[in-house]
Formats: sequence, C-alpha cells, structure tokens
Amino acid sequence: MTGWRLSGAELTRWLEDLLRGGTRVIAPVDEDGRRVFKAVDDPARVCLASGKTRWSPKEFVFPKTEALFSYAVQADGVTLRAASVDAAEQVLFGVRPCDAAGLARLDATFLGGEIDPLYARRRDLTTVVSLGCAEAEPECFCTAVGGSPGGEEGSDLQLLPAGEGWLVRPLTPKGERLAASLSTWAAKASDEEWEQARASVRRVEESIRHSAVAREWASILEASFDSPVWEALGRRCLGCSICTYVCPSCSCFDVNDNGTASCGERCRSWDSCTFALFTRQASGHNPRPTQASRYRQRVLHKFAYYPQRYEGRFMCVGCGRCVAMCPVGMDIQEAVRMAVEAPRGSGDAGR
Ligand code: SF4
Ligand code: SF4
Repeated sequence: MTGWRLSGAELTRWLEDLLRGGTRVIAPVDEDGRRVFKAVDDPARVCLASGKTRWSPKEFVFPKTEALFSYAVQADGVTLRAASVDAAEQVLFGVRPCDAAGLARLDATFLGGEIDPLYARRRDLTTVVSLGCAEAEPECFCTAVGGSPGGEEGSDLQLLPAGEGWLVRPLTPKGERLAASLSTWAAKASDEEWEQARASVRRVEESIRHSAVAREWASILEASFDSPVWEALGRRCLGCSICTYVCPSCSCFDVNDNGTASCGERCRSWDSCTFALFTRQASGHNPRPTQASRYRQRVLHKFAYYPQRYEGRFMCVGCGRCVAMCPVGMDIQEAVRMAVEAPRGSGDAGR
C-alpha cells in the first residue's frame, strides 16, 4: 500500500507547507470548551485527539446561509446576477470517517440529479483528509449503518493513527496532489505498519456495540407510515431541530429574499423538516401538520426514501450527534427499530 508514516512534528511540517502554499486549511480546534472546525493559520491549533467536533464540517461546502443570486429592478426590467463562490482551494483536515461519508451523502443530494452549481464549485475546490478513530464515543454507531472508524467513503486522503504518529495515504487524484510533497521527504510506511493500523481500526469497530440496521428495512419502514408508533414518538419530540443542524447529511434549506423590492439577494439558509413551518404553504395548509408527521419524515427520509433512491445507502452515517444532543433523548436508531417492530396501524400522524 502506498503511503507514508508521519511523526507529530512531520504532520505539523506538512500542514505548514500547505498553509505556506496558500491552501486554506480547515481543521478541528478546541475553542471555548468545544471542538469545532475552523480555518487555521497555525498548525499548533489543530486538535486530532479522540472525539468528534460539536458540528459536522458540512457548512464549508453547504454554508448555513448563502446568496443564490442578486436582483435589481429598473424601469426597463430586472437584472439577475448569479452569485459566485470564493475561489480559494480548501482542505478539510481531520474529518472523522462518518463526517466524510456525510459529505458523500450530500454529494448525492446536490450532485446526483440536477447539479447545484454553488455546491459543485465548493466541492471541486475541496479536498477531504479523513482521520481514522482511535476510539469510539458512546453515541457512535457508524458500523450499524455500513460505515467504519477507518472508513474511506468521501475521503481524498486518509490518516490513520499509528502509535505516537500517523499513517497517511491518498485515495483519489485530489488526495495524490495534496500528498505530492510527502513523497520527497516523508518515510514510506511498511505493510506491517498498515496491518497494525487496520488491526486498531478493527478493535474500534468491535467496541461499537450497536447492532446493524438492515437495508431491507427500508420498505418495512415505508409501510409503517400509518403506524401509531409515530404518534408516540411525535409526542416526545420538541421540534427544536437541533438534530438536523448538527447532522452531517441533512440538507434541507429555505429560500428568502434579503433586500428591498428594488434590489437585494435571494438567499438560502439551512432549515429543518422537524420545524412546524417547514412545509406550511402560503394558503396556510400544512401537509405535515403534527410533530409526529414531521419526526416521521426525518426518520423515513434517512432510512427508507434515501436508500431506495441511492443504492441502499442510508442517509444517516451513524455519527450519533443527534442522539447525544437531543434535549429529550430521542434516539434515531431506536425510532427505526420501534417502527420496524410496531404493528402496522391506522395512526393519524400525518392526518
Ligand atoms: S433534537 Fe430531539 S426534540 Fe429536537 S427536533 Fe430533533 S428529535 Fe425532536
Ligand atoms: S441522523 Fe443523527 S446519527 Fe445519523 S448522521 Fe445525522 S446526526 Fe449523525
């Protein structure tokens, strides 16, 4: 396997080289008691210790708010000007494998059918360096949804922990470009070192005790649409939407004009299917009028509709953030199992 072994000091040297070359490096940093992704100008700020960031890195390819185009109304008509993307190349460095897989799920949403040009431009400019996990957190369940603490999906270049240092190897042409300088000064990693790193990944996999969510459940879940189980779950859900904002694969947005009647910008901003207003129409009609119907949409989108459209892959990558952060302890895996095991019924969740 082609790849290199880096000590901590050599990893710092590599990051310094990237920064010196003008690459925008976005990496986990500890700030105000939280770990978050930030653009860094000093490698000493980068934190690759165990644990996830509070939020996923999706905002760097799908910003919380962005202009789609600007408009200006004149006497002789309306001028529309497409928004442009900041043209800097960026590296998302130290992305956990679940979050890298989350980026791949966003790719399917924004690039799998009609191409979203703003997202496509940012993705073109982005190289993802994933960071294998040396240990799992209690809420992690990547292995239950087809992932791994050493997973490669969505990564251009993979870093795996190896003792006091790291093994690094490119997985895509973008990753090869980013690692090009390493071949001139870094030591090649041996097959034995790779095997040790893979054995560590297997140990972390075995420490994750959550049992697998079956792909075949997608159709059972779809058939649960009218089950009373959604009423029970909906009574617990507050509709705060924390679960969707922290999620690496949630992609709902709203569109608003920011300006006056004569000029301004049309913007999109993150939104959430668990908000009551998300589907309310101008007439006042809301096709998802209850919290039960909204929570059901979140679960079925991730575990029934998305897998049916995208080759059985779940739209959940098992990062566990929504489980850890829900203020009333909702657990999306538990909801899936409840819906699969519940008797089909004549609930009125969406009525
Ligand atoms: S975080 Fe919990 S309470 Fe809030 S919307 Fe999500 S499931 Fe409902
Ligand atoms: S649904 Fe929850 S566990 Fe799954 S990817 Fe989103 S935040 Fe992570």
